[in-house]
Amino acid sequence: MMNDTIAQISSALGQGAISIVRLSGDKSFEIVNKIFTGPNLKEVATHTVHYGHINYNGKNIDEVLITVFKAPKTFTTEDIVEINCHGGVFVANKILETLLLEGARSANPGEFTERAFLSGRIDLTQAEAVMDIIEAKSDLSLSLANKGLDGEIFKLIVGLRTKLLNIIAHIEVNIDYPEYDDVIELSNIIIKPKIKDLLENINNLLEKANYGKVIKDGVKTAIIGKPNVGKSSLLNALLREDKAIVTEIQGTTRDIVEGSINIGGIILNLIDTAGIRESDDFIEKIGIDKAKSVINEAELILFVLDNNQLLSTDDEKLLDLTKDKKRIIIINKTDLNKELAHTFKHSIAVSALNKTGIDDLENMIKQMFLSGEVNLIDQTYISNARHISKLNEALMSLKDALKAIKDELPIDMVEIDLKNAWSTLGEIIGDTSTTSLLEELFSKFCLGK
Ligand code: GDP
Repeated sequence: MMNDTIAQISSALGQGAISIVRLSGDKSFEIVNKIFTGPNLKEVATHTVHYGHINYNGKNIDEVLITVFKAPKTFTTEDIVEINCHGGVFVANKILETLLLEGARSANPGEFTERAFLSGRIDLTQAEAVMDIIEAKSDLSLSLANKGLDGEIFKLIVGLRTKLLNIIAHIEVNIDYPEYDDVIELSNIIIKPKIKDLLENINNLLEKANYGKVIKDGVKTAIIGKPNVGKSSLLNALLREDKAIVTEIQGTTRDIVEGSINIGGIILNLIDTAGIRESDDFIEKIGIDKAKSVINEAELILFVLDNNQLLSTDDEKLLDLTKDKKRIIIINKTDLNKELAHTFKHSIAVSALNKTGIDDLENMIKQMFLSGEVNLIDQTYISNARHISKLNEALMSLKDALKAIKDELPIDMVEIDLKNAWSTLGEIIGDTSTTSLLEELFSKFCLGK
């Protein structure tokens, strides 16, 4: 139900300086007025802050600051009240409880954002960007998420759909109004290049989406190598070099991500660090099958060798296991002997002890995953897995359309593929209505002129 009034604690549950209890809906002011000692919220100006107390049954619950947002220029487009109370779990809950007793309904997770979407205030990609901002772990990923929130992904998709609409319009006009044949020159010469152009656009987006994914989700990284080659020293050097924070991430996926470090803006999600910490033999410690699965899972292998040791059979085995992966061979302990004992493609000489060569390693990682080309000022990158899969789907439909043209199928068969691409792209931004295509088509195409 859209028009009931919802309430929820919007800040994190835990002790802090301030908690925020938020309401949205047309009874927001009425409900809060009943328990607030400050001014009548219906009478104050929008986007203003008011001081007072929350009272219930004659009992003072808390001293608060209340922010009033009046419809329609609000997040949900409804009346919104934000109660800033003291940051205790109990007091925030108590305030929420009184709001529910006065007629608000407890909001479901994400329901404020859902209302913003349902009211057309934001599109689906912007709603998803809210989540990305909350989950951002680096400056780059935060910038990327903010671009999403600003509607940049939306604009990208709308741009593609506009091009698509243009093509469909050419076909549609020819089908429905054959007398306009002379006005619209409909032929493979017109339709085909337009589809190819669109295909190229989507392909470009998908190519760059890899960067987006790296920025957003980071790179699953395994640091491997024999005991005592300096794996944990390297990890420490990487950590100190960037004053990076090691965070314990809860395993939300099936992979064993044990911590993440920020390497010059790229988040490396370390998998299976047990072997590293305990300076144990990687393969022996976890078993060959597990070693294989860790290597499989990893998007980047940091393979550490000791410059002062010959390659062992274990090294050879691991080198072979990782030969097809994105891999950097780190030749460590070059402080003891500067002459390199090993040469490999993508290798870096370092001293984890003296912290030399760490910058080079960082640059190589950046080069490998972002090709040094990432430009978040002028460009935006698709990073959301759902968007990527929908773009791929739209790409397939466009390829089908090209094939239909090649096979000289009737033009309305081509149109079906194009309409499929249209609705697939629509799913990205949450526009799934089929009428919108026709509406837009005819508002755009002024027939009979
Ligand atoms: P791991 O078993 O691969 O994790 O290796 P460690 O990081 O525990 O290092 C094993 C030993 O090598 C320790 O005594 C380190 O101090 C030493 N070590 C690590 N890196 C270097 C280095 O770059 N130069 C020198 N001389 N010793 C190092």
